[in-house]
Amino acid sequence: MAGEAQADCLFCKIIAGDIPSTKVRETETTYAFRDINPQLPTHVLVVPKAHYPNAAALAEADPALAGEVLAEAGRVAEQEKVVEGGYRLIFNTGSGAGQTVFHAHVHVLGGGKLSETHL
Ligand code: 5GP
Ligand code: ZN
Repeated sequence: MAGEAQADCLFCKIIAGDIPSTKVRETETTYAFRDINPQLPTHVLVVPKAHYPNAAALAEADPALAGEVLAEAGRVAEQEKVVEGGYRLIFNTGSGAGQTVFHAHVHVLGGGKLSETHL
């Protein structure tokens, strides 16, 4: 069924607590944790607890949940105090774009120099 946890999904395991992570925020439906390989001082991943393979699939299946993920990304930016300096939200979609974990997630990047054209 759409949204069900996948046994072979890294982020489903992180959400379940089977793999440890550094929590930044949590709601009933979303989880935010630090990227294991940070590209900037603030590099947080926000995921829906339900499993969808990418952001577009999430938004198609559950637009309200997609909105909650985005709102949480904004709250992470506030909590991390990167709003004033600017931050970037990235949804890699497809391996050609660098997506390596096929559970919808948004990268929240800030606290350092952001390129004006790309990551
Ligand atoms: P993607 O490349 O799919 O957009 O992003 C996946 C992100 O997950 C990468 O930035 C990678 O560093 C991060 N990541 C991979 N494995 C782990 C892990 O076990 N724990 C955490 N916290 N992040 C991970
Ligand atoms: Zn998953």
